[in-house]
Amino acid sequence: MALHLRGTTLPDGIHRDLWLLGDRITFDRPSGEAQTVADGGYLLPGLVDVHTHPGSPSEDEPVFDPEAFAEQITAHRDAGTTALRFPGLLGEIPAGVREAPDTPRMITAGRWLAWAGLSKSADFHTVTDDLVTAAVAQTKTHDGWCKLMGDWDYESDPVPYDILRAVTDAVHAVGGRVAAHCQSARGVLNASRAGVDSIEHGMGMPEECVELMATHGTVYVPTLTTFARRVPDIKDNPRGRLWHEGHRVMIRRVREAHDAGVRVLAGTDSAPFGNVATEVEHLIAAGLPTDVAVGAASWTARDFLGLPGLVEGGLADVTVYDADPRVEPGVLRHPRRIVLRGRVVR
Ligand SMILES: [Zn+2]
Repeated sequence: MALHLRGTTLPDGIHRDLWLLGDRITFDRPSGEAQTVADGGYLLPGLVDVHTHPGSPSEDEPVFDPEAFAEQITAHRDAGTTALRFPGLLGEIPAGVREAPDTPRMITAGRWLAWAGLSKSADFHTVTDDLVTAAVAQTKTHDGWCKLMGDWDYESDPVPYDILRAVTDAVHAVGGRVAAHCQSARGVLNASRAGVDSIEHGMGMPEECVELMATHGTVYVPTLTTFARRVPDIKDNPRGRLWHEGHRVMIRRVREAHDAGVRVLAGTDSAPFGNVATEVEHLIAAGLPTDVAVGAASWTARDFLGLPGLVEGGLADVTVYDADPRVEPGVLRHPRRIVLRGRVVR
Protein backbone atom coordinates (compact mmCIF):
# COMPACT_ATOMS: atom_id res chain seq x y z
CA MET A 1 0.00 0.00 0.00
CA ALA A 2 1.17 3.53 -0.76
CA LEU A 3 2.10 5.81 2.16
CA HIS A 4 0.58 9.27 2.25
CA LEU A 5 2.02 12.39 3.92
CA ARG A 6 0.69 15.92 4.04
CA GLY A 7 2.66 18.94 5.15
CA THR A 8 5.01 21.69 4.05
CA THR A 9 7.85 20.28 1.98
CA LEU A 10 11.30 21.81 2.20
CA PRO A 11 13.15 23.52 0.72
CA ASP A 12 10.32 24.74 -1.55
CA GLY A 13 7.94 25.54 1.33
CA ILE A 14 4.84 24.24 -0.45
CA HIS A 15 1.99 22.77 1.57
CA ARG A 16 1.05 19.60 -0.30
CA ASP A 17 0.25 15.92 -0.31
CA LEU A 18 2.78 13.36 -1.31
CA TRP A 19 2.68 9.63 -1.71
CA LEU A 20 5.38 7.03 -1.46
CA LEU A 21 5.22 4.11 -3.84
CA GLY A 22 8.03 1.73 -2.96
CA ASP A 23 11.16 3.83 -2.90
CA ARG A 24 9.74 6.70 -4.97
CA ILE A 25 7.83 9.91 -4.29
CA THR A 26 4.89 11.11 -6.31
CA PHE A 27 2.67 14.20 -5.95
CA ASP A 28 -0.12 12.52 -7.92
CA ARG A 29 -2.59 10.51 -5.85
CA PRO A 30 -2.14 6.89 -6.84
CA SER A 31 -5.13 4.64 -7.45
CA GLY A 32 -5.96 2.32 -4.59
CA GLU A 33 -5.69 2.82 -0.87
CA ALA A 34 -2.99 4.81 0.90
CA GLN A 35 -2.05 4.88 4.56
CA THR A 36 -1.64 8.39 5.98
CA VAL A 37 1.49 8.46 8.14
CA ALA A 38 1.82 12.23 8.62
CA ASP A 39 -0.68 15.05 8.49
CA GLY A 40 0.75 18.49 9.10
CA GLY A 41 4.20 19.74 10.01
CA TYR A 42 7.33 20.23 7.96
CA LEU A 43 8.74 17.56 5.66
CA LEU A 44 12.44 17.15 4.91
CA PRO A 45 14.15 14.53 2.76
CA GLY A 46 15.83 13.39 5.98
CA LEU A 47 19.10 14.57 7.46
CA VAL A 48 22.50 13.89 5.91
CA ASP A 49 25.87 13.58 7.62
CA VAL A 50 28.54 13.88 4.92
CA HIS A 51 31.47 13.25 7.24
CA THR A 52 31.14 10.38 9.68
CA HIS A 53 33.30 7.32 10.38
CA PRO A 54 31.19 4.66 12.07
CA GLY A 55 32.70 1.30 12.96
CA SER A 56 34.99 1.69 15.99
CA PRO A 57 33.89 0.54 19.44
CA SER A 58 35.66 3.64 20.84
CA GLU A 59 37.81 6.50 19.62
CA ASP A 60 40.88 4.99 21.27
CA GLU A 61 40.36 1.78 19.37
CA PRO A 62 40.57 2.40 15.63
CA VAL A 63 39.53 -1.07 14.52
CA PHE A 64 36.48 -2.00 12.50
CA ASP A 65 33.80 -3.81 14.46
CA PRO A 66 30.68 -4.72 12.46
CA GLU A 67 28.56 -4.59 15.62
CA ALA A 68 29.71 -1.09 16.47
CA PHE A 69 29.12 -0.10 12.86
CA ALA A 70 25.54 -1.40 13.00
CA GLU A 71 24.84 0.39 16.30
CA GLN A 72 26.25 3.67 15.12
CA ILE A 73 24.39 3.76 11.83
CA THR A 74 21.24 2.90 13.77
CA ALA A 75 21.91 5.94 15.96
CA HIS A 76 22.21 8.04 12.81
CA ARG A 77 18.98 6.61 11.45
CA ASP A 78 17.01 7.09 14.67
CA ALA A 79 18.05 10.74 14.60
CA GLY A 80 16.39 11.05 11.20
CA THR A 81 19.60 10.75 9.16
CA THR A 82 18.69 9.07 5.90
CA ALA A 83 22.00 9.41 4.03
CA LEU A 84 25.62 9.15 5.11
CA ARG A 85 28.97 9.68 3.45
CA PHE A 86 32.03 7.99 4.93
CA PRO A 87 35.16 9.90 3.89
CA GLY A 88 37.40 7.21 5.31
CA LEU A 89 36.12 3.97 6.80
CA LEU A 90 38.16 1.52 8.85
CA GLY A 91 36.72 -1.48 7.04
CA GLU A 92 34.31 -2.41 4.31
CA ILE A 93 30.56 -2.02 4.81
CA PRO A 94 29.51 -5.52 5.95
CA ALA A 95 27.70 -7.61 3.34
CA GLY A 96 23.95 -7.12 3.27
CA VAL A 97 23.95 -3.96 5.42
CA ARG A 98 23.80 -1.55 2.52
CA GLU A 99 20.82 -3.37 1.02
CA ALA A 100 18.91 -3.69 4.29
CA PRO A 101 15.66 -1.72 4.04
CA ASP A 102 16.10 0.07 7.36
CA THR A 103 19.63 1.42 6.93
CA PRO A 104 20.43 4.93 5.72
CA ARG A 105 21.83 5.30 2.23
CA MET A 106 25.60 5.04 2.39
CA ILE A 107 28.42 6.38 0.27
CA THR A 108 31.92 5.29 1.24
CA ALA A 109 35.35 6.41 0.10
CA GLY A 110 37.04 3.33 1.56
CA ARG A 111 40.08 3.69 3.78
CA TRP A 112 42.05 6.93 4.17
CA LEU A 113 44.88 7.24 1.65
CA ALA A 114 48.07 8.83 2.96
CA TRP A 115 51.01 9.78 0.79
CA ALA A 116 54.23 8.07 1.95
CA GLY A 117 56.03 11.43 1.95
CA LEU A 118 53.91 12.82 4.80
CA SER A 119 55.92 13.05 8.00
CA LYS A 120 53.13 11.42 10.00
CA SER A 121 50.13 9.23 9.37
CA ALA A 122 47.87 7.04 11.45
CA ASP A 123 48.11 3.25 11.71
CA PHE A 124 44.74 2.87 10.04
CA HIS A 125 45.74 4.86 6.93
CA THR A 126 46.70 3.14 3.70
CA VAL A 127 50.15 4.59 3.07
CA THR A 128 51.27 4.72 -0.54
CA ASP A 129 53.95 6.41 -2.60
CA ASP A 130 51.73 6.20 -5.68
CA LEU A 131 48.77 8.25 -4.57
CA VAL A 132 47.41 8.61 -8.12
CA THR A 133 47.04 4.88 -8.73
CA ALA A 134 45.70 4.24 -5.23
CA ALA A 135 43.14 7.04 -5.47
CA VAL A 136 41.84 5.95 -8.85
CA ALA A 137 41.52 2.36 -7.61
CA GLN A 138 39.71 3.60 -4.48
CA THR A 139 37.11 5.55 -6.44
CA LYS A 140 36.43 2.57 -8.70
CA THR A 141 35.77 0.24 -5.80
CA HIS A 142 34.11 2.72 -3.39
CA ASP A 143 31.09 4.60 -4.68
CA GLY A 144 33.12 6.98 -6.84
CA TRP A 145 34.93 8.59 -3.93
CA CYS A 146 38.45 8.52 -2.54
CA LYS A 147 39.67 10.15 0.67
CA LEU A 148 43.14 11.62 0.83
CA MET A 149 45.12 13.00 3.68
CA GLY A 150 46.11 16.36 2.16
CA ASP A 151 48.29 16.87 5.21
CA TRP A 152 48.46 15.59 8.76
CA ASP A 153 48.01 18.61 11.01
CA TYR A 154 48.67 22.32 11.28
CA GLU A 155 52.41 21.88 11.88
CA SER A 156 53.62 19.38 9.30
CA ASP A 157 54.32 19.57 5.56
CA PRO A 158 51.31 18.84 3.32
CA VAL A 159 51.13 16.71 0.19
CA PRO A 160 52.73 18.85 -2.57
CA TYR A 161 50.39 20.62 -4.96
CA ASP A 162 51.67 18.76 -8.05
CA ILE A 163 50.78 15.40 -6.52
CA LEU A 164 47.33 16.54 -5.37
CA ARG A 165 46.67 17.99 -8.80
CA ALA A 166 47.72 14.77 -10.56
CA VAL A 167 45.47 12.75 -8.23
CA THR A 168 42.50 15.05 -8.76
CA ASP A 169 42.88 15.04 -12.54
CA ALA A 170 43.22 11.25 -12.67
CA VAL A 171 40.22 10.68 -10.40
CA HIS A 172 38.08 13.13 -12.35
CA ALA A 173 39.12 11.43 -15.60
CA VAL A 174 37.42 8.22 -14.39
CA GLY A 175 34.36 10.11 -13.13
CA GLY A 176 35.33 9.95 -9.46
CA ARG A 177 35.51 12.54 -6.71
CA VAL A 178 38.18 13.47 -4.19
CA ALA A 179 37.64 14.30 -0.52
CA ALA A 180 40.73 15.87 1.04
CA HIS A 181 41.49 16.09 4.76
CA CYS A 182 43.24 19.43 5.29
CA GLN A 183 44.24 20.75 8.65
CA SER A 184 46.97 23.25 7.78
CA ALA A 185 47.02 26.49 5.83
CA ARG A 186 49.37 25.08 3.20
CA GLY A 187 47.41 21.86 2.93
CA VAL A 188 44.12 23.69 2.32
CA LEU A 189 45.78 25.95 -0.23
CA ASN A 190 47.20 22.99 -2.19
CA ALA A 191 43.86 21.17 -2.17
CA SER A 192 41.93 24.29 -3.19
CA ARG A 193 44.32 24.96 -6.06
CA ALA A 194 44.16 21.30 -7.14
CA GLY A 195 40.36 21.50 -7.38
CA VAL A 196 39.44 18.61 -5.11
CA ASP A 197 35.70 18.01 -4.70
CA SER A 198 35.47 18.49 -0.96
CA ILE A 199 37.72 20.03 1.64
CA GLU A 200 37.29 18.37 5.01
CA HIS A 201 38.08 20.48 8.12
CA GLY A 202 40.02 23.31 6.44
CA MET A 203 41.74 24.48 9.61
CA GLY A 204 43.75 27.68 9.10
CA MET A 205 42.31 28.15 5.61
CA PRO A 206 44.01 31.08 3.81
CA GLU A 207 41.59 33.69 2.53
CA GLU A 208 42.34 33.02 -1.15
CA CYS A 209 41.00 29.47 -0.80
CA VAL A 210 37.45 30.78 -0.64
CA GLU A 211 37.64 32.04 -4.21
CA LEU A 212 39.49 28.92 -5.37
CA MET A 213 36.78 26.68 -3.91
CA ALA A 214 34.09 28.76 -5.59
CA THR A 215 35.89 28.56 -8.94
CA HIS A 216 36.35 24.79 -8.78
CA GLY A 217 32.93 23.99 -7.31
CA THR A 218 34.62 22.52 -4.24
CA VAL A 219 32.37 22.01 -1.23
CA TYR A 220 33.50 22.85 2.27
CA VAL A 221 32.85 20.42 5.15
CA PRO A 222 34.29 22.09 8.26
CA THR A 223 33.13 19.48 10.83
CA LEU A 224 32.89 22.21 13.46
CA THR A 225 31.31 19.84 16.00
CA THR A 226 34.44 17.78 16.44
CA PHE A 227 36.71 20.83 16.67
CA ALA A 228 34.46 22.49 19.23
CA ARG A 229 34.63 19.33 21.32
CA ARG A 230 38.44 19.42 21.30
CA VAL A 231 38.78 23.02 22.46
CA PRO A 232 39.10 22.16 26.19
CA ASP A 233 41.77 19.44 25.54
CA ILE A 234 43.91 21.68 23.38
CA LYS A 235 44.02 24.44 25.99
CA ASP A 236 46.98 22.97 27.83
CA ASN A 237 48.83 21.82 24.75
CA PRO A 238 52.03 23.88 24.27
CA ARG A 239 51.09 24.27 20.59
CA GLY A 240 47.60 25.38 21.57
CA ARG A 241 47.96 28.90 20.26
CA LEU A 242 48.46 27.68 16.67
CA TRP A 243 45.54 25.28 16.97
CA HIS A 244 43.20 27.96 18.28
CA GLU A 245 44.26 30.39 15.58
CA GLY A 246 43.58 27.74 12.90
CA HIS A 247 40.22 27.04 14.52
CA ARG A 248 39.21 30.70 14.62
CA VAL A 249 40.16 31.11 10.96
CA MET A 250 38.16 28.08 9.81
CA ILE A 251 35.05 29.36 11.58
CA ARG A 252 35.41 32.72 9.86
CA ARG A 253 35.82 31.04 6.44
CA VAL A 254 32.51 29.17 6.77
CA ARG A 255 30.50 32.35 6.27
CA GLU A 256 32.94 33.78 3.74
CA ALA A 257 32.78 30.58 1.69
CA HIS A 258 28.99 30.66 1.68
CA ASP A 259 28.99 34.34 0.65
CA ALA A 260 31.33 33.48 -2.24
CA GLY A 261 28.95 30.78 -3.51
CA VAL A 262 30.67 27.72 -2.01
CA ARG A 263 28.38 24.99 -0.74
CA VAL A 264 29.11 24.35 2.93
CA LEU A 265 27.92 20.94 4.14
CA ALA A 266 27.38 19.37 7.54
CA GLY A 267 29.57 16.59 8.89
CA THR A 268 30.22 15.54 12.48
CA ASP A 269 33.41 13.46 12.06
CA SER A 270 33.37 11.74 15.45
CA ALA A 271 31.10 10.35 18.15
CA PRO A 272 28.37 10.72 19.19
CA PHE A 273 26.63 9.38 16.09
CA GLY A 274 23.30 10.78 14.99
CA ASN A 275 24.44 14.24 15.99
CA VAL A 276 24.29 16.25 12.77
CA ALA A 277 21.75 18.64 14.34
CA THR A 278 24.62 19.89 16.49
CA GLU A 279 26.66 20.66 13.38
CA VAL A 280 23.73 22.71 12.06
CA GLU A 281 23.88 24.77 15.27
CA HIS A 282 27.62 25.32 14.84
CA LEU A 283 27.13 26.37 11.21
CA ILE A 284 24.52 28.91 12.31
CA ALA A 285 26.84 30.19 15.03
CA ALA A 286 29.54 30.56 12.35
CA GLY A 287 27.20 32.87 10.44
CA LEU A 288 25.34 30.69 7.92
CA PRO A 289 21.72 31.73 7.41
CA THR A 290 19.52 29.22 9.22
CA ASP A 291 17.86 27.84 6.07
CA VAL A 292 21.29 27.33 4.49
CA ALA A 293 22.57 25.54 7.59
CA VAL A 294 19.56 23.21 7.60
CA GLY A 295 20.01 22.56 3.87
CA ALA A 296 23.68 21.76 4.57
CA ALA A 297 22.46 18.83 6.64
CA SER A 298 19.64 17.88 4.29
CA TRP A 299 18.62 18.87 0.76
CA THR A 300 21.87 20.57 -0.28
CA ALA A 301 23.90 17.61 0.90
CA ARG A 302 21.58 15.16 -0.87
CA ASP A 303 21.95 17.09 -4.08
CA PHE A 304 25.75 16.97 -3.70
CA LEU A 305 25.59 13.20 -3.18
CA GLY A 306 23.24 12.66 -6.13
CA LEU A 307 20.23 11.67 -4.01
CA PRO A 308 17.00 13.40 -5.11
CA GLY A 309 14.86 14.84 -2.31
CA LEU A 310 11.18 15.79 -2.09
CA VAL A 311 10.50 16.07 -5.81
CA GLU A 312 8.36 14.09 -8.22
CA GLY A 313 10.17 10.78 -8.68
CA GLY A 314 12.51 11.49 -5.74
CA LEU A 315 13.72 8.84 -3.32
CA ALA A 316 11.24 7.96 -0.56
CA ASP A 317 13.11 9.36 2.46
CA VAL A 318 11.04 11.79 4.54
CA THR A 319 11.36 13.15 8.05
CA VAL A 320 8.57 15.17 9.63
CA TYR A 321 8.91 17.94 12.25
CA ASP A 322 6.34 19.86 14.26
CA ALA A 323 7.99 23.23 13.55
CA ASP A 324 9.83 24.79 10.62
CA PRO A 325 13.54 23.95 11.14
CA ARG A 326 14.46 27.06 9.09
CA VAL A 327 13.00 29.06 11.98
CA GLU A 328 13.57 26.64 14.86
CA PRO A 329 16.58 24.48 13.95
CA GLY A 330 16.43 22.83 17.39
CA VAL A 331 13.40 20.87 16.17
CA LEU A 332 15.78 18.76 14.06
CA ARG A 333 16.52 16.83 17.25
CA HIS A 334 12.89 15.72 17.48
CA PRO A 335 11.66 14.11 14.26
CA ARG A 336 8.00 13.21 14.69
CA ARG A 337 8.13 10.71 11.86
CA ILE A 338 11.00 9.02 10.01
CA VAL A 339 10.40 7.27 6.71
CA LEU A 340 13.33 5.61 5.00
CA ARG A 341 13.22 3.98 1.54
CA GLY A 342 9.42 4.14 1.63
CA ARG A 343 9.11 2.37 5.01
CA VAL A 344 8.16 3.89 8.35
CA VAL A 345 11.08 3.62 10.77
CA ARG A 346 9.17 5.46 13.47
ZN1 LIG B 1 37.12 12.53 9.49
